[in-house]
Amino acid sequence: MDNKGEHLQQTITVEKQDGNAFFSNPRIPNTAELPPESVQILKGRGMDENGIRDLGWHAVPTLHKPHKRLSKQELATNGQVDAVELLSSLLGDKRLVRTLRTMDLSNGCGMQCDTCLADAALPAKQFSYESLERLFLDNKFLEMLQPDSLRIGSSGEISNNPRALDIVKMILTATKSLDMKRMEQEGKHHQIKVFTNYRHITEQFIDGLIDLAKTEPRLSVCISLPLNKIDSVNRQFDQYALSKSDIFGPFADYRDEAGLIRWAGRTTLRNVLIQDVRHTQPLYMGGRVLSNDQLKRIRDMELDEIYYDSTSRDYGHRGFAKTYLNPDGLWCMVHGTGFTSHTDRSFTIITPQNLDALSYLPYHYDFPTPPNWPGGKAVNNVDPEKLRTEDFTTQTQKPRTIVK
Ligand code: SF4
Repeated sequence: MDNKGEHLQQTITVEKQDGNAFFSNPRIPNTAELPPESVQILKGRGMDENGIRDLGWHAVPTLHKPHKRLSKQELATNGQVDAVELLSSLLGDKRLVRTLRTMDLSNGCGMQCDTCLADAALPAKQFSYESLERLFLDNKFLEMLQPDSLRIGSSGEISNNPRALDIVKMILTATKSLDMKRMEQEGKHHQIKVFTNYRHITEQFIDGLIDLAKTEPRLSVCISLPLNKIDSVNRQFDQYALSKSDIFGPFADYRDEAGLIRWAGRTTLRNVLIQDVRHTQPLYMGGRVLSNDQLKRIRDMELDEIYYDSTSRDYGHRGFAKTYLNPDGLWCMVHGTGFTSHTDRSFTIITPQNLDALSYLPYHYDFPTPPNWPGGKAVNNVDPEKLRTEDFTTQTQKPRTIVK
């Protein structure tokens, strides 16, 4: 049945509301909605609809979005967060052992790509270097990290932090024990994966990461190019990359009709990659700002195209949970779909109290299963096609919502 056109034409827009008011009252509607599987599990742990809603589910892992971009000076004086203090009530909780593999240094991103696949807000807080250093020296925190890797860069941009390179170096040193353990057990390195979105102004930072990657096989660097409607950043990257032909040169595939280089993804360094998400590529089912043309294209897509584009992935992971750390807190993140929930992910801050229920959500099966997580490993035994069909035919289907 092909009613997706009608479904997507119901797209509604939620304007961000001002400042703290948006999130400070739990009775104000949340900006994300949990998938039905997760609601069932939380009800099974004794929560009712109101209790689940009042946890506060956010489409974007940011509690207080700033009205405007804060200056570096304001962030440095008012936005510094003590990482140890933030996590103090959770450090040592056995349920969180080996759960964490993704973190950001700030609670938003200052890059302002016009299509943001992470729905990022502007940054209002950042971890201080000194507190991160104390946190990574704490064995209780090291126990919280997953045994194979730690990713820095999700809905925040690492280069926004002026001490970013020092922090990466510090983390590489502080996590050596995890590396030794993995080498002993699996013969593989524990990796520190850094994702950064290229800008002309961050070239010096990227140069520093590349230099570090040359001597540090544990470091994996992914340089992402934005999905912007205008190609100016990509053009600047082409110039930058061509000036470093020893690293990037052999992988300049060809120039497209716009005169831009299509990058093959690899570089001469095994641990430095380019993620070339050009706006003509079909990666637009999530994200904050979609142009009318993009929305029209989604509406006009054939079902098969939607299915293979992201629906299979979305429905296949629906209800799977994992944790994520940024300066607003340790978050529980649950995968949803753009069809039943208005973004692909729903976030709530973990507390020692709500962990009693949240830890029963199944942990995402793509990652090592935490040994004490009561929800255990998620099982991918759903038929994404069946779920999708149910969603497209049910009376309770909701319009896709874009947060602006
Ligand atoms: S796509 Fe990445 S770099 Fe761009 S605004 Fe979003 S989080 Fe920031």
